[in-house]
Amino acid sequence: MKTRYLVYRSKGSQDLICTTDATDKASAYKTARRNGFILPAGAWAFREPEAHFWANVDRRGPDECWLWNVSVSNNGYGNTRHEKRQQGSHRVAWLLERGPIPKGLLVLHRCDVRACCNPSHLFLGTLADNMADMVAKGRQSHANTNPVRGSAHVQAKLVEEDIPHIRRLSASGISSQNIANIFGVSRTAVYQIVERKRWKHVA
Ligand SMILES: [Zn+2]
Repeated sequence: MKTRYLVYRSKGSQDLICTTDATDKASAYKTARRNGFILPAGAWAFREPEAHFWANVDRRGPDECWLWNVSVSNNGYGNTRHEKRQQGSHRVAWLLERGPIPKGLLVLHRCDVRACCNPSHLFLGTLADNMADMVAKGRQSHANTNPVRGSAHVQAKLVEEDIPHIRRLSASGISSQNIANIFGVSRTAVYQIVERKRWKHVA
């Protein structure tokens, strides 16, 4: 059965090249070419119902975060209605781009931005993977800012760049203990940073 596809210039672009009827993505590209449209190498096709979803996403460059534009809940996740139920917008992005989400798995963010719907920032994992990923990222950010710090130091010293990161993690509901683990500092230190009793000068 054929459905309408909308073909865009590239994955991150809002630049519509053509609409065409086809059975799947690959044949949408073929049909478009047969109809005389010149498709750039990175052209990207959406089924028409999906196009309504992507219209609410601020699609940017392939490596940037694509934020859900409407209805973001307190916990930071985008909200949308898909197949007759409320779902996180990142989950719908996965469903549309990558296919079904296996039972027991979560759609996780590489970028830690919960309202982000860029399929290349999403991956499947368990709750345990999620925690391990956060720890790995915490260590990595330390390694980037100061190679001496990190897991080798029980009481690591924070740098200014860590402060907004810590406040953001806390605001997104991650416990002080987990944040403390990630950054290798005490829970009290995390509390004081979040409550702005320390590092007050950092926004
Ligand atoms: Zn992102």
